[in-house]
Amino acid sequence: MTISKEAVWEMLNSIPDPEVPAISIVELGVVRDVKVEGSSVIVDMTPTYTGCPAMKMMEDQVKAKLMLEGLDVKVNVVFKPAWTTDWMSDATKEKLRAYGIAPPDKLSFENLHPFAKSDKGPLKCPFCRSENTALTSQFGSTACKALYFCNECRQPFEHFKCH
Ligand SMILES: [Zn+2]
Repeated sequence: MTISKEAVWEMLNSIPDPEVPAISIVELGVVRDVKVEGSSVIVDMTPTYTGCPAMKMMEDQVKAKLMLEGLDVKVNVVFKPAWTTDWMSDATKEKLRAYGIAPPDKLSFENLHPFAKSDKGPLKCPFCRSENTALTSQFGSTACKALYFCNECRQPFEHFKCH
């Protein structure tokens, strides 16, 4: 069987990010390119950071999804250019906020100095938008997220900090 590139993109867009199921792996920006040659599909993917444990899972999900459609799948893991949060659209960042994760800023201080304290001022709470927040841990549920606490609405939230 043959399939259009657009149809492949659509299928990939239905695969949720294993770490943030509110967005798809396409919205996350890890799917870089799709090539279709007859019934063979080649998908280029870039991990959010080197050694990202979710990458293998995403790769397996891409293969499983396309193989179900009777396609031959090859996943190329591409490390350059490195993944950046700039590959996420504003709409995607808004979904992260709605999910309770403060979206990443463009090249935020944390990205450049992951172990230093940000001097860029407080992070806004994704729930009440208060700036009365405090960093509780540099690493949240995954190494990609830092854990914060909002002193205003008393809720913990995560900040997606990987670049
Ligand atoms: Zn709050």
